[in-house]
Formats: sequence, structure tokens, C-alpha cells
Amino acid sequence: MSQSRTADLLYDAKATVGEGALWNARTQELYWVDILEKKFCIYNPATRQNRAFDCGQYVGTCVVRKSGGVMLAVHHGFAHLDLTSGKLTTVATVEGLPDKIRFNDGKCDPAGRFWAGTMEMRGEAGLGVMYRLDPDRRLHKMFDGIAISNGIVWSLDRRRMYFIDTLKFTIDVFDYDDAIGNVTNRRVAVSSPKELGWPDGMAIDAEGMLWVAYYLGNKVVRWNPNNGQLLNQIRVPTKNVTSCAFGGPKLDKLYITSARAGLEPAELANDPHAGALFVADPGVAGAATFEFAG
Ligand code: ZN
Repeated sequence: MSQSRTADLLYDAKATVGEGALWNARTQELYWVDILEKKFCIYNPATRQNRAFDCGQYVGTCVVRKSGGVMLAVHHGFAHLDLTSGKLTTVATVEGLPDKIRFNDGKCDPAGRFWAGTMEMRGEAGLGVMYRLDPDRRLHKMFDGIAISNGIVWSLDRRRMYFIDTLKFTIDVFDYDDAIGNVTNRRVAVSSPKELGWPDGMAIDAEGMLWVAYYLGNKVVRWNPNNGQLLNQIRVPTKNVTSCAFGGPKLDKLYITSARAGLEPAELANDPHAGALFVADPGVAGAATFEFAG
């Protein structure tokens, strides 16, 4: 696993902020979002087609809903998207949020609750909050003081939750109680040196190791959360790498999103595939992700 790998261009989406990579194992499709273009997208590797749904508001992330369709974290809350009609229905709203706050990354826990955090658009420190939407559609505020909420996954034994506040340059771990969805005892699992870039989206593999996309970093890094060690890196041929998800029939492909936002015209000229989807062979299979149980 020490050998360095490179990701290949998969689909030149030219996303402004591609994010939220998620594999739908039922349909064998990659779900992802373009946050600032207000789109939810489905890329089908078999047909090489990408389908975009215009949601009319920011879309921070997406999860599969067990009872059908997709759940989205939108500008100020959560919504259901019907993939047949394209109709977006609000499920829960955080009242009183200023326009400059929007939802960002999130995922479902093993019990099917949808966790997603907010951020101030420019990443102003401390204004983000982590919310949990339960299958009964009740919304819970879990913790606050976040700058840019990202990268949330659960350990294979369902006893820990890993979370990234990008501007903290750490991967934090909580004790997680799957029965009630509570988290306690936050501490640092991995300190990420600033020269690697900004830690963004995250996935977990079948060995319990973490794969973190690096914004301003051209890479995905595999970390051991048990001892904080860097295990491996995948080079991605674009600067702003935003999220990753294991996919494919054997969950042994790593799908990667990226962003064009923030790159100057001269940088874009040298980074023609900024905002594309990429794919890599990580050398290990991923852990299955969870659907929203509501
Ligand atoms: Zn992100």
C-alpha cells in the first residue's frame, strides 16, 4: 500500500464546486452535487452519462432515501428529491439562519439518520453547526463552533464517528452511540499538516482506514485513524479535490469530485479538468454507506 497511485479523468463535468460523492449500490450509480450551481447529479459509469437536476437552491450533499428518491441538504435544511418527477419537497428547515449560512457536507449514520453541517459561505470561523435529521423527520442540533463542516463517516464497529472541520486541519473522532445517535468525547484522531492542503470530504474503507480529499491539495490521502499515520496517497490531476466515495460492483473503485471555484483564469488554463469527476484504484475495498431510513 505504500505505492503511489494516480486518479484518471472520468467525466469532465466542469463543476463549480463538485461535492458529496456517494455510491448508490442499488443502481450502481455515482450520486454527487454541484453546490454553487444548485445541482444534484447522477453519473452512470456503465453508460458514461451524467444526469443533472436543477434544485433551485444550494445543495450541500446527498444521501439515498430507503423509501425512494434522494435526500438533500439544501440551503437552510433538508429536502426530498423525487427522481422521476424532479420535484423537490422540503422536509425540515432550520429557522432564522442568515443567507450567508448554508448546509455543506453530510452523510447517514448506520441507523439511517442524516447528519449534515452548516458553514458560513466564506468559511468564517465558528458559525457552522452540525444537525441530525432523524427518520421521524425531527431535527436535532448536535454541536456547533464549526468553520467548514466536512467529511463525516462512522467506524466499522459503529462506535465512533469521524468528522472534519476543514480549517481545523484535523480529523476528529467522537464516541458514537448507534442506539440513540448521540456523540461524545470529541478528540483529534489525525493531525493533517497544512502543506498537504485542506482536508475536505472523507470515505472509510473495509479495513477501517480513512480516505480524505484535499482541497488545494491535488490528492486523496489514506489515514490510519487509530494512530494518526499517513498510509498512502492518490495523486489527482486537479488542484481542488473535494470528496470521494468507494463504488463499483466490488466497491473497489474510488470516485472523486473536484471544484473549479477559487482558481484564477491562469490556473484554470493549467488545470483544464478542474471540476471533473475522477476515478482511481485504491487497492482496497470500501465500506458500504447508509441510506436515510425515513
Ligand atoms: Zn466538502
